[in-house]
Amino acid sequence: MKTLQELTRPNIWNLKPYSSARDEYKGFTASVFLDANENPYNSPNNRYPDPLQHDLKSELSRIKKVLPEQIFLGNGSDEAIDLVFRAFCEPAQDNVVAIDPTYGMYKVCADVNNVEYRKVLLDGSFQFSADKLLAATDEHTKLIFLCSPNNPTGNELLRSEVEKVINEFDGLVVLDEAYSDFSGAPSMLLQLSEYPNLIVLQTFSKAWGSAAIRLGMAFASPEIIGLLNKIKYPYNVNLLTQKEGLNTLHKYYEIERWVKMLIEERESFMKDFAKLSCVEQVFPSDANFFLARVTDAVKIYNYLVSLGIIVRNRHSVALCGNCLRITVGTRVENNQLMEALKEYED
Ligand SMILES: *Cc1c(COP(=O)(O)O)cnc(C)c1O
Repeated sequence: MKTLQELTRPNIWNLKPYSSARDEYKGFTASVFLDANENPYNSPNNRYPDPLQHDLKSELSRIKKVLPEQIFLGNGSDEAIDLVFRAFCEPAQDNVVAIDPTYGMYKVCADVNNVEYRKVLLDGSFQFSADKLLAATDEHTKLIFLCSPNNPTGNELLRSEVEKVINEFDGLVVLDEAYSDFSGAPSMLLQLSEYPNLIVLQTFSKAWGSAAIRLGMAFASPEIIGLLNKIKYPYNVNLLTQKEGLNTLHKYYEIERWVKMLIEERESFMKDFAKLSCVEQVFPSDANFFLARVTDAVKIYNYLVSLGIIVRNRHSVALCGNCLRITVGTRVENNQLMEALKEYED
């Protein structure tokens, strides 16, 4: 790996971050706060929230078995994705490499930041070769994006290839594990300390059932996390989200139960779905959704919309011609989709 200084944009490496009132006062117990021009009325929303979310990180640190200093929290994982571009990629000079197809936000953030985005097509089993991915890199490649289980294909990427990329690439590897709770494969978080160039993304939006509160996590070395903290908005995670995030972490056992139910439901839903006459192929899934090739994705998508049932049309995505991506809902919801498709005629 190159040094972190070599990988970081010089202006970011040299940046002296904004120091908020809540940053400068730390440690001593205090009861009179006249430092931040807050309104003394309307407690508790009158006070600025903890900029580094200490309570939430200390609880997460226990659950995820990483140090609090290895955790970044943001306004969804999308914030972490944007920040890695801003920290490491010099616009119009650096580039990033990603598997294709994958989650659309990596390319959007690359475009917003004017950073070249190089795609490497997956194979027919939606797997990738580390050598092919590495061959697409050059001395200006700062980041490689991997997503496992991948969106929209649903499959876990081969662990041996993922590890090979992390071992052989001299830049940073961003591994998006938004769906890893639904997969039998263990999270790469367990190996975070072995890999100084690994950034793992997870989110409260899927297994944790909290897409509305906008809370995403990035895990990496304390040095990388320090850089992200330096460039984030000072109060990027609001008080309501920090509180609700903590409440959610205390529902740990309930969440395990949801995940177990969704995995069981996914298996029976996929089996039934494969029997429909308009379905040509259902691809294996390690996530809370699956991809299926149908006879005519656009027509079936529009038919379902007319019945108030919304799935994701992935027809125009690489390797996904005539494919729909279907989220696993409740048994009742999934049955509504099944009944509608039984009635569908080509
Ligand atoms: C849904 C999803 C996310 C979650 O993004 P948030 O901003 O945390 O809601 C991240 N990555 C992938 C691949 C996703 O599908």
